[in-house]
Amino acid sequence: PANVVAGGSGFIASRILDILIEKGYDVVTTVRSAQSGNKILERYPKLSQDRLQYVVVEDITNVNSLTLILTKMCDYQALQSSNRPFDGVIHTAAPFTQTFSDPVKEMLDPAIKGTTAVLKAVKQSAPSVKRVVLTSSFIAMFNPQVAVYDGTSWNPVTRDEAVQNPRFTYSASKTLAEKAAWAFIDSEKPSFDLVSINPPLVFGPLRQHIASLDKVNTSNQRIRDMVQGKFSDKLPPTGIHLWVDVRDVALAHVRALEVPQAGGNRFLVAAGHMSNKKIAEAVIATHPELRSRLPAAEQLVDDTPPNVYGFDNAKAVEVLGITFRSSLRECVGDTVESLAAVGGI
Ligand code: NDP
Repeated sequence: PANVVAGGSGFIASRILDILIEKGYDVVTTVRSAQSGNKILERYPKLSQDRLQYVVVEDITNVNSLTLILTKMCDYQALQSSNRPFDGVIHTAAPFTQTFSDPVKEMLDPAIKGTTAVLKAVKQSAPSVKRVVLTSSFIAMFNPQVAVYDGTSWNPVTRDEAVQNPRFTYSASKTLAEKAAWAFIDSEKPSFDLVSINPPLVFGPLRQHIASLDKVNTSNQRIRDMVQGKFSDKLPPTGIHLWVDVRDVALAHVRALEVPQAGGNRFLVAAGHMSNKKIAEAVIATHPELRSRLPAAEQLVDDTPPNVYGFDNAKAVEVLGITFRSSLRECVGDTVESLAAVGGI
């Protein structure tokens, strides 16, 4: 079967592409520039052109351009043969950054309107699509009232808070985008169903092209900063105390397309608890030559609260069949290797 991945240039999406291609899917991915599309194709020099293509969608909120692309894709698939129908869409594209000047234009609109534009375009022009998988976030489930996260909670953040306080903008962009997606399914009753994948902080080795370490995706930045010695006096607060490996997150997206009973579910995909101290220890254990870049032992303080929330990822294990990589040390070690390969450590 064929699939569309929206936002194929990203950290998580690059791994999703790897898995889809390895499993024999034909893939069309949207990117924002031909340059990033070509960088993706360069990673698969032996792959025939009809297995992986990119299309440039400059504005993910533009329903018309998405509709045009999906219509062309359906026509193309129909011409090819009916045994490879175009049946799934994975929507990962959304800004994940803490640096922006306009919360609405740069963060909320691309996340929320981008999600509804993808759903609208699929409904209008791709009747063969059976499922859309959305990359949401643990932050969309985050709620101080919750003691054990099981994938059912919602972040109470509002649009007003998102606009007024940049600390809430990203979390609101994810929460409101996911809510808009479920509301679309309820009100529009399309012929496809929806699955959301909700990861906490995602670490792991890079597959996407980056020109330099300045361009590392947001969740890997703390590891980059540690190995570059930016926290050599003191570690910053951990923030979210759960992590997951990018390779498991990517597999969860692909399984979410494949497993019939995944439809209609939100999946918390978390591997374990973590803190910046644990990450620093993983760097030291796997790369002792970088020891001097990190705070001295007595300054390495674990800020995990004694009553830190629990999590239950049983649904992802049972329905999606994911065996989560549980070694933060290995994940961080692999991440450091891949950062070193970019150069600049
Ligand atoms: P990246 O920054 O590597 O990827 C983000 C992707 O979204 C890129 O393909 C990027 O395209 C695209 N994108 C960003 N802004 C826009 C925009 N305004 N319009 C269209 N496309 C845009 O990060 P990740 O791979 O980590 O993020 C992928 C998804 O996963 C996001 O939805 C993020 O919210 C979610 N997520 C990530 C977590 C993590 O810890 N990494 C945790 C939970 C959720 P371009 O390359 O052109 O910039």
